[in-house]
Amino acid sequence: MLSSISTPAVITCKAAVAWGAGEALVMEEVEVSPPQPMEIRIKVVATSLCRSDVTAWLSQAHIHIFPRIFGHEASGIVESVGQGVTEFEPGDHVLTLFTGECMKCKHCTSNKSNMCQVLGLERQGLMHSDHKTRFSIKGKPIFHYCAVSSFSEYTVVHSGCAVKICSTAPLDRICLLSCGVAAGLGAAWKVADISEGSTVAIFGLGTVGLSVAQGAKLRGASRIIGIDINPEKSEKAKAFGVTDFLNSSECKEPIQQVIKRITDGGADYSFECIGDTDMITTALQSCCDGWGMTVTLGVPKVKPVITAHYAFFLTGRTLRGSLFGGWKPKSDIPTLVDMYLKKVSCAFYYIIRLSKTHLY
Ligand SMILES: [Zn+2]
Ligand SMILES: [Zn+2]
Repeated sequence: MLSSISTPAVITCKAAVAWGAGEALVMEEVEVSPPQPMEIRIKVVATSLCRSDVTAWLSQAHIHIFPRIFGHEASGIVESVGQGVTEFEPGDHVLTLFTGECMKCKHCTSNKSNMCQVLGLERQGLMHSDHKTRFSIKGKPIFHYCAVSSFSEYTVVHSGCAVKICSTAPLDRICLLSCGVAAGLGAAWKVADISEGSTVAIFGLGTVGLSVAQGAKLRGASRIIGIDINPEKSEKAKAFGVTDFLNSSECKEPIQQVIKRITDGGADYSFECIGDTDMITTALQSCCDGWGMTVTLGVPKVKPVITAHYAFFLTGRTLRGSLFGGWKPKSDIPTLVDMYLKKVSCAFYYIIRLSKTHLY
């Protein structure tokens, strides 16, 4: 009883700290503050390295915020909770959320958006609530990344930036649903809403691109064209549903022309999963007139401005942005975790279709 009302102490633990842009991470002893009101402190069990971490670490298209602890795709166990938290208790298994869900704002109460106005993507390296850090080394503040910072044995997140999951889910695998896999699946299912028999072109076959392929396959796409410059992706991509692999560096003509030729005028859907804004233009050119849709998922590495000829839109194409696959993180992710646990494969697609109205 006493422990439940006592204030949690500062924890000293190891974390991988980035001291400057592009500098090797250094394992440091860091102090992790107790969770503040409506926050939870998590013992991180598994964390992935996402391309967005690397992009921000290199800081080519971002403001420089250092020293900093990266990591935004993680699973863990709640160690302690701050004042006012009733949703979590120590021992709960959770996934961290780099974009949160307050459940109350204009976007959280709309079925059209997952862009929470209160707990959305944090870009200043601070906590949402008081714009301070929860990490320090000998009194010097260490900045956060996306208000998650999972490259640490312990971290503090807002309770709206974590979601409770089934305790039997394997934390080392399920952490991928905290960013990349969910982003790709959602882009195919929820954002593009791929229809059966469609043709799909996917630029970039990393975790996100392969997850788009998996989503497209489950949606019944008839042809899934994967584009990458790494020939080793070819075999792996097939396992995720890619029917045609194109190595763009080996094509004798522009890749968009190849795609238009083999799809009778362009794909129904194209996905940019690289983070190259020039590739968005190529993806748009690879779509068909009339209903072709390009969905962007990548985070720009260098040039955050896109250019596109107006003719693409005049001919009926659509360019759609997406973050986290359009999922409402707290509302939708437990369903994906449960489906993973049930090993739902072919039935996955139909269940998602049937439950769409309940999911969002
Ligand atoms: Zn990510
Ligand atoms: Zn909100």
